[in-house]
Amino acid sequence: MSSINTDYELIIIGGGPAGLCAAMYAGRGLLKVALLERGTTGGELLNTELIEDYPGFVSITGRELAKKMTEHAEAFGAEIRQENVEWVEKRDDGMFEVHCTSGTVYHTPTVILTAGGTPTKLGVPGELEYAGRGVSYCAVCDGAFFKGDVIAVIGGGDAAVEEADYLTRFASRVYLIHRRDELRASKILQERLFANPKIEIIWNRKVLEMTGDPGGLQKLELEDTVTGERSDLAVTGAFVFIGFRPNSGLIRGHFDHDASGYIVTDDRMQTSIPGLFAAGDLRVQLTRQVTTAVGDATTAAIAVEKYLTDRKTQGIPVQA
Ligand code: NAP
Repeated sequence: MSSINTDYELIIIGGGPAGLCAAMYAGRGLLKVALLERGTTGGELLNTELIEDYPGFVSITGRELAKKMTEHAEAFGAEIRQENVEWVEKRDDGMFEVHCTSGTVYHTPTVILTAGGTPTKLGVPGELEYAGRGVSYCAVCDGAFFKGDVIAVIGGGDAAVEEADYLTRFASRVYLIHRRDELRASKILQERLFANPKIEIIWNRKVLEMTGDPGGLQKLELEDTVTGERSDLAVTGAFVFIGFRPNSGLIRGHFDHDASGYIVTDDRMQTSIPGLFAAGDLRVQLTRQVTTAVGDATTAAIAVEKYLTDRKTQGIPVQA
């Protein structure tokens, strides 16, 4: 059954670091704010074992930081509601409708979208068939299932390099398979990778197919991206870290984005739709870190306050 909720001046979609930080700032600004999150708050923090690059914490677990950020947002009055958002659209009268699976439709003058992204799939035969039976997109969630195993990590960015290193806690050997002869990952992560004796890098290879038996994944078929030569690699696990697809598809109607679907914003984090702001991993930017997500979110929350003040000054309603 559908119901309409007009209680909030700001709806934040997504409960990762960006959403939680925006909620904390909006709460401090005494805005009537709700954060909508379909699962547990924390976002990508929950998929990260240790955070070592968040100022003030030399090392903190992702879960602990997620808990602290959630408590911080709530301490300043932000309401966190469990909702799965299906889409958001702007009406002709300037208000937004946020449609949720529960049937609730939130009517609000401002929205901050912090819905992150979903892992990109390789798109090769066997990948979906063996997902959960050897193929994984989350090392922290699934690493412990591969104690003593020989496994592969696919990708050459920060996520692949960091998670390959992490997975050596469990696996006896980790092959990092990268399609080029140079990693995209940051130098400090690369140094850690090269120093880890349990990791072997397989350069210039792409995965063509994943095969196995009813018990799970057994083998990857690889192709040399330079010579075209094919080979097999026996592994029981394959962790795919080849990037994220931003969850910008939640927006109905035209908005500016890049070729990969990342949202273009101005320096206030406002999208090309006035009143709709974006922060964190789904925004076009150089790098995607916890620190950049909370930076975006701070700007977005303060920009929302100014947007609402301007509307009130102009006599435009801020409540549906
Ligand atoms: P990313 O930086 O976009 O790297 C993706 C990697 O996957 C690249 O090496 C790319 O190869 C490879 N790739 C893409 N498509 C592929 C395909 N079809 N087949 C084989 N390989 C493919 O993505 P990410 O590592 O997930 O990181 C996403 C963002 O999160 C980045 O901004 C990153 O800095 C940030 N992050 C940071 C940390 C950290 O600082 N601790 C940890 C995780 C993520 P090419 O290099 O050849 O393009």
